[in-house]
Amino acid sequence: MKNITNFDFTNKKAIVRVDFNVPLNDKFEVTDDTRIVAALPTIKKIAETGAVILMSHLGRPKGKDEKFSLKHILPKLSELVGKEVMFVNDCIGEEVKEKVASLKNGDILLLENLRFYPEEKKGDRNFAKQLAELADVYVNDAFGTAHRAHASTAIIADFFPENKMFGYVIEGELESLHKVLDEPKRPLTAILGGAKVSSKITVIEKLLEKVDNLIIAGGMTYTFVKARGGKIGTSLVEDDYLDMANNIVKKAKELNVNLILPVDILNADDFAPDANTQVTPVDEIKDGWMGLDIGPKTIEIFKKVITESKTVIWNGPTGVFEMDKFANGTIQVANALVDATEKGCFTLIGGGDSVAAIKKYKLENKVSYVSTGGGAMLEFLEGKALPGIEAIRK
Ligand code: AMP
Repeated sequence: MKNITNFDFTNKKAIVRVDFNVPLNDKFEVTDDTRIVAALPTIKKIAETGAVILMSHLGRPKGKDEKFSLKHILPKLSELVGKEVMFVNDCIGEEVKEKVASLKNGDILLLENLRFYPEEKKGDRNFAKQLAELADVYVNDAFGTAHRAHASTAIIADFFPENKMFGYVIEGELESLHKVLDEPKRPLTAILGGAKVSSKITVIEKLLEKVDNLIIAGGMTYTFVKARGGKIGTSLVEDDYLDMANNIVKKAKELNVNLILPVDILNADDFAPDANTQVTPVDEIKDGWMGLDIGPKTIEIFKKVITESKTVIWNGPTGVFEMDKFANGTIQVANALVDATEKGCFTLIGGGDSVAAIKKYKLENKVSYVSTGGGAMLEFLEGKALPGIEAIRK
């Protein structure tokens, strides 16, 4: 497999799949440039000697729609790269070919939104071929879409049997996942929070085979508690998953995994920021009350486990952190990860909402790695083959 660091891009044109699916405000300005910043090392490395053709999707357009034009991100992109990035109004066709033909070493060209063509998501071979014909080299650096077999994320790689490789974003993601899944320093702890057991069940089962400690928190808690006969009031529960929850507890015992559930809970009498609150043991939530965050005893238990770990992976908040009243557990867990990192623990945070949380508390630079791909990371943890990764490796 080719490697971006060693590859000689001199006099070559590289087509690079990046993830510039960034949020825009109503003036079409970029409000969070994390994904653009993440792609800079790859862009700069190639532009040192060769020409860069950038391609991405933005939002979910139905056909060509100005609102979703990648031209909106051009000012931000040029500013961050430190030189003017060129733009072309399409991603395939004559105009694009002409523009690409004029590219010199060091030039950077951004193509228009790939999803203006439905062929992109369909993984259309002919569309992928037209993109491929623009370049000598294919670089995939969009981890966020690596779990999709789209034309630009997977199918295109077939047209570069020799010259295809990962960019630095994907390399970094794979390296950090490798540190957790393949050769973790122990104890290895996984913290799984978020809303539902159903969306995390496969991940839980996979991680059980690897970890020393499995912390369960967030909305998932109550399915486990109800399954063992506890009282959960009106807390979130998935009744179809009660047996599954008991099986996980059983399997953890068999595998000698320390499965840690909250012992106390911050309850609310309404799903609202101004609800009344009270702390109760996790099995004794009163009728009409719902658990929306972990309680103080639980926080201490979680903190101890986290700070005594050598590797930690965290996915999903411990409570409804969007409301300040129910954010403390998530904040404390985030801080415990920072403490652990300072003591030399490798800490990986992945999956949409825990990433949002760590950014909200401005701690993203104080942990080892923050993943750029929510869904892709979960699928990787589930042990699924990601088309965007496989296409480069095969
Ligand atoms: P996920 O996408 O599965 O990681 O879920 C994240 C969402 O779970 C966040 O929006 C949280 O507000 C929500 N969540 C966390 N804890 C609870 C809870 N105890 N009850 C309801 N929702 C929760």
